[in-house]
Amino acid sequence: TYVVTDNCIACKYTDCVEVCPVDCFYEGENTLVIHPDECIDCGVCEPECPADAIRPDTDADMDKWVEFNRKYAELW
Ligand code: SF4
Repeated sequence: TYVVTDNCIACKYTDCVEVCPVDCFYEGENTLVIHPDECIDCGVCEPECPADAIRPDTDADMDKWVEFNRKYAELW
């Protein structure tokens, strides 16, 4: 899965939401989040993010961000 990280805080762009083929972005408290069970790992959103906030969960130390994304995505 891909995850939204702290660079998203207060970002006003939604370029990522527009390109996601499965609509798995949701509103978090002060970031967008990606539902980790719905993301199909296509990677299309990553280069579209102007804040460079979207990372693959295979990057180092992403576990807490996976949980953060899941927590807010599951509120919907
Ligand atoms: Fe959506 Fe693809 Fe980004 Fe996952 S990697 S959030 S499916 S655009």
